[in-house]
Amino acid sequence: MSPSRTAAPGGVRRAHAGDHGGVHCSELRTAISARVDDERPPPGVGEAVLDAHLRDCAECRSWSERARRLRILAAGLDLD
Ligand SMILES: [Zn+2]
Repeated sequence: MSPSRTAAPGGVRRAHAGDHGGVHCSELRTAISARVDDERPPPGVGEAVLDAHLRDCAECRSWSERARRLRILAAGLDLD
């Protein structure tokens, strides 16, 4: 057996957080921030998709929490 053909050490797979069955976190986050702002979500990302993703993806969950808190903070500034 020749060891000349070695696979990439550490695995070839790039652990790229952000892909969940075809729905990308970046798309979801657009929808999340739209929802936080009481705006219409982008086409293709329904409430059900959003909720399912939030259930699966801890990163987006904390992202959405942050977005909500920022929104509350911004509302609290009471700019007039
Ligand atoms: Zn996500």
